[in-house]
Amino acid sequence: MDTAFSIRNKKLSSQQIIYFQEFFMERRVDELGRVVIPNHIRKALGLEPKTKVKFDVSGKSVIVSKAYPTCIICGCEKDLTEVKGKYVCADCKKQLI
Ligand SMILES: [Zn+2]
Repeated sequence: MDTAFSIRNKKLSSQQIIYFQEFFMERRVDELGRVVIPNHIRKALGLEPKTKVKFDVSGKSVIVSKAYPTCIICGCEKDLTEVKGKYVCADCKKQLI
């Protein structure tokens, strides 16, 4: 934890630091490019360990959202059949047969 954290040169207690970090939801990217998603956000979005997420870039922002399986051919999310860990929708499946 960053012990030099202060507001207007006023030193904060550890609990105050945790509160402000949670409130502002700021996290640091570590040396390997990892960022921890705050626990209350993971719980709200149902992001259990091993859940697949996807990243979308919008301007200077990164949007992290839960990834859902999509058809490997057309990208749709309906009527999927899993084949060796990949998904194919009913329409594309018809065209393959
Ligand atoms: Zn498809």
